[in-house]
Amino acid sequence: MSKITIAIDGFSSTGKSTLAKQLAKELGYVYVDTGAMYRAITLFAMRNNFIADGEERLEDLVKLLPKIKLRFVPNPELGFAEMYLNNENVEKEIRTMRVSKYVSRIAEIEQVRFKLVEMQKDMGKEKGIVMDGRDIGTVVFPDAELKVFMTASPQARATRRYKELLDRGEEVLYKDVLENVEKRDFIDSHREFSPLRKADDAIEFDNSDMGLKEQFERLLSIAERYIEKV
Ligand code: C5P
Repeated sequence: MSKITIAIDGFSSTGKSTLAKQLAKELGYVYVDTGAMYRAITLFAMRNNFIADGEERLEDLVKLLPKIKLRFVPNPELGFAEMYLNNENVEKEIRTMRVSKYVSRIAEIEQVRFKLVEMQKDMGKEKGIVMDGRDIGTVVFPDAELKVFMTASPQARATRRYKELLDRGEEVLYKDVLENVEKRDFIDSHREFSPLRKADDAIEFDNSDMGLKEQFERLLSIAERYIEKV
């Protein structure tokens, strides 16, 4: 059976990654979490003091971009690939609120987007891929056979994210998580290069009131229909 490209875009914390990961596993496709790539560059910028509260040296980050090596390394025990930044496993660190705070600012930089979009296009050359992010259906794979745009209310998303962070042992306040989700939505949809928007041919999927099982079953049946068509 022919393989297709599946692009899943949407707002922060809509559960894109969980769903995309499950879908890829079921279909035997490769899963790529592009948010992890923007997060890893952000971590690099933070560690080198290129970004902090009230202080930015983004030109210095841009100069060092060619030296930043990103890789997804499969972890068979976990059943998914983890993000490596210059040969260091940074999977846990990139998911913290500290990184979430700066990531949308870093993702606005044209040269950062250029580098990551090139890598993402290359990963999807063979098709058989489920990629999630903000600009996958519009910029990375405008010809993807199936495009999904996920939305949910900011409160539903912040609640999910808050629980996730608490489960990981981070001490956070719900109001800070909600503020972060809303702020990232704003920056992501208003930036100059590749702003977050629904591709004209994307299927909209509002999961505010939908459990994970229902979401997965719906998405899988949509994907199977598209795969049959090719
Ligand atoms: O998906 P996740 O929430 O991990 O993404 C973190 C941030 O990375 C987003 O808020 C957005 O600023 C940026 N991003 C992006 N384009 C993508 C994926 C993520 O700008 N394709």
